[in-house]
Amino acid sequence: MAGDRAESCSFCGKPAAQAGKLIAGPAGVGICNACVTTCGRLLECDKTRDGKPAAAGPAMQEAPAKAPLAPIKLVAPAQLRLELDAHVIAQAHAKKVLSVAVFNHYKRLNDRQQPAAAAPTGDLADVELDKSNVLLIGPTGTGKTLLARSLARMLDVPFAIADATTLTEAGYVGDDVETVILRLLQAADMDVERAQRGIVFIDEIDKIGRKSDSASITRDVSGEGVQQALLKLLEGTICNVPPAGGRKHPEQQCIRVDTADILFICGGAFAGLDRIIARRGGAKSLGFVPPRNDAPSLSAEQIVAGLQPEDLFSFGMIPEFVGRLPVISVLEPLDREALIRILTEPRNAATKQYRKLFALSGMTLEFSRASLEAAADKALALGTGARGLRSVLEGVLLDTMYTLPEAAPGSKFTVTAEAIRGEQPVTVSVASPKKKAS
Ligand code: ADP
Repeated sequence: MAGDRAESCSFCGKPAAQAGKLIAGPAGVGICNACVTTCGRLLECDKTRDGKPAAAGPAMQEAPAKAPLAPIKLVAPAQLRLELDAHVIAQAHAKKVLSVAVFNHYKRLNDRQQPAAAAPTGDLADVELDKSNVLLIGPTGTGKTLLARSLARMLDVPFAIADATTLTEAGYVGDDVETVILRLLQAADMDVERAQRGIVFIDEIDKIGRKSDSASITRDVSGEGVQQALLKLLEGTICNVPPAGGRKHPEQQCIRVDTADILFICGGAFAGLDRIIARRGGAKSLGFVPPRNDAPSLSAEQIVAGLQPEDLFSFGMIPEFVGRLPVISVLEPLDREALIRILTEPRNAATKQYRKLFALSGMTLEFSRASLEAAADKALALGTGARGLRSVLEGVLLDTMYTLPEAAPGSKFTVTAEAIRGEQPVTVSVASPKKKAS
């Protein structure tokens, strides 16, 4: 009936003549196109990870339209592995697994964004490639973060590190999982397109295990709750990131980030995993003698070969979460020889950095072979992998660096094993002035 036609928008009150379009509902009710758009945005922003509507939905901020980024330059796994060798010592298996995972991930990403002219046809045309997020298992200080960071640098993609233990389920004290994506956005200078192809490393993933097997009346907000919250991020979802961090505020504009092409690398120590595998009998097929508590620990490759998803369930990881980390690698604990190599071989090895610092003051710094061995022994005793090496050297060189500006120009400092053990100071000799030829 003409009499029932809406004269104005029932939401904002704009008269029909001024509204671009007025969509009529029953009994004189109408909504203008501007209000339809606003409602759409509110609904989008209200979608929380678990599908429940949030208490108040913030307004949305659309990414400004831009020309698409150029495809990522694919680097062959063998080449990636070679480049990793320049930064990371040992961990052959992890390097291989990661090189292949990263190569496949970015091949998939390029295909999704700009299908190649030579894209497969026939029965392969409709095949969708799954994301290959990675789980790195290994003791602290063995290079998990270093591997992920080195790969991101090689590929020139944004990289962010998050600590799983600081995360909580939305609405509880702690960080929402969106802060992980916010860090990536910040690493990409808030460029959404670039962030969407970045790499996120989530550390301490074994610390968000489900707290108990029995259903409890209290919610497990920092354990299973976080795993549930991370599920969608790992798989790929449109995530609404509050740019200023913290809780979503109704007045705060969200940035939409699609996580479908973000590579997630999760790291955790999973201490005692080898014993769990051995106890289950997983090592039997590898020809191991059985599982006793004093059984020798398994090597990284033996752990990978014997690992079953249920071994991770025993750390409280939920099956859906484990299922989203299809690529798994295990890092070896670093032995004395590896620690010595870490001190000297990588491009930015700690001894090279100190030698450069001394050279910048016109001095020479040397480390005896025995000093490197002593430093490795000290780091082994600390039990923090290679992480302890730098603090060992820093402690030994502190006094010398404190008085460095007063040292005679051209002085040569030698770090000995005794100096590392704190039995003697760092030895210093002053270069004698060259004698004039008579
Ligand atoms: P985590 O396994 O706990 O993530 P990190 O990768 O953060 O350990 O290692 C801490 C530091 O120790 C690194 O910054 C690096 O200097 C050194 N490091 C650890 N593992 C290696 C390795 N395999 N090769 C070279 N350096 C290493």
